[in-house]
Amino acid sequence: AAPTLRLRNLTVSFAGQDAPVTAVDDLSLDVDAGEVLAVVGESGSGKTTTFLSALGLQRGAHVTGQALLNGQDLLSASEAELSRLRGREVSVIFQDALASLNPVMAVGAQVAEAVAVHHRDLSRARTREKAVELLELVGIPAPRERAAQYPHELSGGMRQRVMIAIAIANEPRLIVADEPTTALDVTIQAQVIDVLRRIHERTDSSIVFITHDLGVVAGIADRVAVLYGGKLAELGTTEDVFYNASHPYTAGLLACLPRVDSGGRGSRLHQIDGTPPRDITSVSGCVFHPRCPMARLPSPCSTVPPPLIDTVAESGMTGEPHLSSCHFAAEVPQRADVSAPEHP
Ligand code: SF4
Repeated sequence: AAPTLRLRNLTVSFAGQDAPVTAVDDLSLDVDAGEVLAVVGESGSGKTTTFLSALGLQRGAHVTGQALLNGQDLLSASEAELSRLRGREVSVIFQDALASLNPVMAVGAQVAEAVAVHHRDLSRARTREKAVELLELVGIPAPRERAAQYPHELSGGMRQRVMIAIAIANEPRLIVADEPTTALDVTIQAQVIDVLRRIHERTDSSIVFITHDLGVVAGIADRVAVLYGGKLAELGTTEDVFYNASHPYTAGLLACLPRVDSGGRGSRLHQIDGTPPRDITSVSGCVFHPRCPMARLPSPCSTVPPPLIDTVAESGMTGEPHLSSCHFAAEVPQRADVSAPEHP
């Protein structure tokens, strides 16, 4: 099947003090029909900017390249065309439900409003009924009573479920979930992910799950894209990325996960020193080299930008592509005790 979203040579920059600052650099990536793609990286890695820019939702961004949603280029679409597509073909779930919901409108009415945008033919009673059905679908207990409540009367987890109900109101082909569980505690996080997984099974929408936490994607994602410095560091199936990490940055993120023998609790063992560069074009060679424990300096790591290669094809094997942009992809150390991803 054709990919739902196809990003080609996407470059995003913002006006800087003296010169423009590049946040995403020549990124190409497909979101396949019906898949859950996790997009992982620290804050500043470009993960949110990439998708919000592709959907025309990133303020102040200068965007070039292509972002094809079901074949239609979003970057050349008019604002009217984009608003027609949003909600119907693509919707976004933001991290902060409280800021995204209208504080003075009952949540049922907000879900009903989302339904009505693309179903003007439905009666008001039917629209309200559909809103209650959606609240039930996302696991809100006593949905009819809850529908009459205001956002501040609900817990963070319940508000995030309302956001999901709004996002799926029109069964869009693509749902972009931007750190949807970050503000929630671990148990509620798991519940919200479970809701997303059930929705995915039911609707077969493609889901882009943006997160800084590799740990939360194991149980939901088919594939994982690791972004660093506005570029793809690694892309592969969830299992390949967890068990055969092919970029030192991914290995660093994996090393930050709690140990299996701590029962998933315990302190973070490790952190990657430093932060992503603000202007990625200011770094020569490999954009990760200033922080990379494996870097060979100066050459090739600070002189030659590593190309994105398919490590599977490169080693003469067949199978799902496993892309890495590291000169030494085959030498990346593996972490043996990482939590096993439960494949969906
Ligand atoms: Fe590290 Fe060099 Fe690989 Fe970049 S190319 S990730 S600096 S080893």
